Amino acid sequence: MTTTKFVLPESDIPTTWYNVVPDLPKGLPPMLHPGTREPITPADLAPLFASELIAQEFATDRDVDIPGPVLDIYRQWRPSPLIRARRLERDLDTPARIYFKYEGVSPAGSHKPNTAVPQAYYSKLDGVRRLTTETGAGQWGSSLSMACAYFDLECDVFMVRVSYDQKPYRRGLMETFGATVTASPSDRTEAGRAVLAADPDATGSLGLAISEAVEAAMGSGGSARYALGSVLNLVLMHQTIIGQEALLQLDLADDYPDVVVGAAGGGSNFAGLALPFLRRQFEGGRTVRFLAAEPSSCPSLTEGSYDYDFGDTAGLTPLAKMHTLGHDFRPPAIHAGGLRYHGMAPIVSALREVDLIEARAVPQTACFEAGVRFARSEGIVPAPESSHAVRVAIDEALRCRETGEEKAILFSLSGHGHFDMQAYIDYFAGKLTD
Ligand SMILES: *Cc1c(COP(=O)(O)O)cnc(C)c1O
Repeated sequence: MTTTKFVLPESDIPTTWYNVVPDLPKGLPPMLHPGTREPITPADLAPLFASELIAQEFATDRDVDIPGPVLDIYRQWRPSPLIRARRLERDLDTPARIYFKYEGVSPAGSHKPNTAVPQAYYSKLDGVRRLTTETGAGQWGSSLSMACAYFDLECDVFMVRVSYDQKPYRRGLMETFGATVTASPSDRTEAGRAVLAADPDATGSLGLAISEAVEAAMGSGGSARYALGSVLNLVLMHQTIIGQEALLQLDLADDYPDVVVGAAGGGSNFAGLALPFLRRQFEGGRTVRFLAAEPSSCPSLTEGSYDYDFGDTAGLTPLAKMHTLGHDFRPPAIHAGGLRYHGMAPIVSALREVDLIEARAVPQTACFEAGVRFARSEGIVPAPESSHAVRVAIDEALRCRETGEEKAILFSLSGHGHFDMQAYIDYFAGKLTD
């Protein structure tokens, strides 16, 4: 029998997350306080995050226990399947073996609940009543809304205005989970009012929505905290459940990847898949090529500078050393496919600096072409974000066709595109350009 889907029993769900920080060859530069520019302390973050999350952001242990109530929720969709893309291999006529780890099976349709659930759980433990956050296309907002519903927390989402207007279904999903959704810029915060005063028709950006969500949490008198869906050390750590499962599943397949690919916005799903393989490599295992795929129109890793920058537009967050396009960056209006954040996770940035990972920038029409090809052979419509990884994985497989190399390629299919069909419709209508 040829196996296509490598399935683990629930009892094999990893019970710890992997913290890569102690294994980074040059360590991680500290985050800096936005006022003093001194390294931040856990106390500086207390108005923003629950205490256990702050402890995780500064953690120096390699293995961090996943709490039982979080595992109980993970069990609803984890372990997620690892699938051999046999029909795609035939379609590409490649000698490569292509595997994808499919995170679209979560209730919100992406990998983001892997961190939304523990962030909501630890906030509840601290007696927080409300979480504030930002969302662009709505994947993160819907994941956090779902997690808040599980733990009976209020969820207050600032949604980038252009998506608020163009993506009513993600907004509807958040409201179904009980969240309050506010278009950003809004008149609820100083950061939002300043932008609206200069331009009443401003369509917003992820960086500005972060400023609004941070300001709303800090002005809550302690009842609210802020949640972030990517970039932070703790988020990347929560996502390592993906790669740990994939290691076990490739054992079942009696295979090991030569290349690991992930789409990188803030870097969390890419790192979540890659870091457990990198750990194996640190421990003497095979060397893997890790490829982070990003949009040509938001090329933080391939073209950004490696510098201290704010996480948000208004400069309310700590400064992090990362690859960045500048905190006032806004992707060109033609860009449809998510992955719009100006910076990159400090961990991913640090790995890029020491050449442990590579990065590829891919234009959007090539990504949609790859997404459509994948859908027609594997039946799953990739989220536009995920299609960046599909593109790079297909390019690797096509290279194998030319060289005859029988490589194993593993990529992260971070989510499905069922809420993004307008972008596919626009692609078919020829409305998307590079
Ligand atoms: C948010 C998102 C991404 C990008 O975020 P990362 O933190 O880089 O993983 C990629 N794919 C999907 C489906 C997403 O929702």
